Amino acid sequence: VIVYDLTDAECEDILARASIARLGCAEGDQPYIVPISYSYDRAARAVYAFSTLGRKIVSMRWNPKVCVAVDEIVDAQHWTSVVAFGRYEEIGHTAEHGAARERAHALFEQRPGWWLPATARPADGDDRAVPVLYRIRIERISGRRTTRPG
Ligand SMILES: Cc1cc2nc3c(=O)[nH]c(=O)nc-3n(C[C@H](O)[C@H](O)[C@H](O)COP(=O)(O)OP(=O)(O)OC[C@H]3O[C@@H](n4cnc5c(N)ncnc54)[C@H](O)[C@@H]3O)c2cc1C
Repeated sequence: VIVYDLTDAECEDILARASIARLGCAEGDQPYIVPISYSYDRAARAVYAFSTLGRKIVSMRWNPKVCVAVDEIVDAQHWTSVVAFGRYEEIGHTAEHGAARERAHALFEQRPGWWLPATARPADGDDRAVPVLYRIRIERISGRRTTRPG
């Protein structure tokens, strides 16, 4: 099996095609990894996602340097794997985040079964129930792919 490095453009193709990633955060000396759903915005070079308030959001607020891993695995000899390093940015409900929020909604609407209504604010003002919308600005990306020789 030969392993090839992917170009940045090829890495972005994989990010754009997939919708589930592993998100890695660094809580001091303790890494934390969970699967997430996301949409990739090529123009902004950013991964958009949302979450309820929990360990990963607390972790990323504390340390915004995160990474995202996406792969397409057929078997041990046939796989493509991309790792993207970036910075967590929370998209709030204020006017300054309006454009990013609209962009996120536009991306999410393209995906079937997306629970977009969950991102609305509850009338009783209980913020714990409001999903946190965020994006990860990609700063560095690498990818590898195998193919069998011949
Ligand atoms: C295919 C797929 C798509 C998903 N998409 C999303 C998404 O778009 N947004 C989203 O917020 N979540 C998504 N999840 C769930 C996500 O993986 C986390 O379980 C969830 O977000 C809770 O993370 P948290 O850090 O807030 O955990 P908390 O609720 O704070 O978790 C507390 C503890 O529970 C354990 N734990 C939490 N999550 C997991 C897990 N997945 N596996 C094992 N142990 C766990 C950890 O030990 C953690 O310390 C997805 C999961 C899958 C499998």
